[in-house]
Amino acid sequence: MLPSQSSTSRTQLSALTVLGSINVDLVVQGGRLPGPGETVTGGRFYRANGGKGANQAVAAARAGHDTVSFVAAVGDDDVGRDVLAELGRENLDLQFVKKCAGQSTGIAIIMVDGQGENAISVASGANSQLSVADLSRLPDELFKSPRVFLTCLESPRDTVFAGLKRARLNGATTILNPAPADSLVDGPLLLEDVDVITPNSVEASQLTGELISDADSATKAARILQKAGCKSVIITLGAAGCVIVDGDTTGYVKAVNVDRVDTTAAGDAFNGALAVALCEGHSLTESAQFANMAAAIAVTRSGAQPSLPSRGEIDAFV
Ligand code: ADP
Repeated sequence: MLPSQSSTSRTQLSALTVLGSINVDLVVQGGRLPGPGETVTGGRFYRANGGKGANQAVAAARAGHDTVSFVAAVGDDDVGRDVLAELGRENLDLQFVKKCAGQSTGIAIIMVDGQGENAISVASGANSQLSVADLSRLPDELFKSPRVFLTCLESPRDTVFAGLKRARLNGATTILNPAPADSLVDGPLLLEDVDVITPNSVEASQLTGELISDADSATKAARILQKAGCKSVIITLGAAGCVIVDGDTTGYVKAVNVDRVDTTAAGDAFNGALAVALCEGHSLTESAQFANMAAAIAVTRSGAQPSLPSRGEIDAFV
């Protein structure tokens, strides 16, 4: 459990904005993956809500006590209406989700074989239409101190960075989960508007060129990311926990020893919970410990959003 705060303004502090993607996964689980031009029959179909933005918003809404504002985009289609109805059952404020006429909602077509190997094709649809102009129409309130602003890279890069800049100008604490990292690999890495960057080890390697094999190499990569302008770095290391580099100090949080069922959305659980704990005024290390527990619970369950724990579950887990 997080230590209780003595601050009298705690209710005001709990305010969080997430900007990110909404995808719906259409999954066929079959015996083997089809080759080009081939049809494989006999699979089982299911549909699941996803998108890193939506996963992180749901993770934060469940891990916190207060409503989370979610900035995103869906298409003008049945899939978009269904996903919004489902997200509406969480503690999320969806009034800033743009409905894009003539666009599909983000879709991932996923084929999984009997060994768990998959092939994925994504149509980002409405996610790619969330523009800098859309952002400029949002109220300042969403970016104001003492809010925390959390975002990832499944939305257009310019929009993500405009959001970080606006949050920085308005005094919010900014968290960038640089996933997927591909859009940041070309050109100079400019992280001046980022307070905390939270890559996993693969993303940290992509961004820094460092091969990350342990806490020492992760710390080295974190120092490179700090040179790009961000204050603090948390590199998540899967079952090895995470490394925290905050200003001049370096820390390490060991992962909780759990029976792993499915690591899908572990990073999303981590980021959502981290944002909540920072919102509540906790230190970066305390917040990473809380996030580490939320993510550990998520890996003991199947799926993305169904695996994300509530605050009661995280507090009880301790
Ligand atoms: P991503 O899901 O983005 O690839 P990681 O694999 O680094 O990110 O996992 C994020 C966090 O989830 C880790 O820092 C850790 O807190 C938790 N986690 C992941 N895998 C495990 C595991 N096997 N056991 C316990 N915790 C885990």
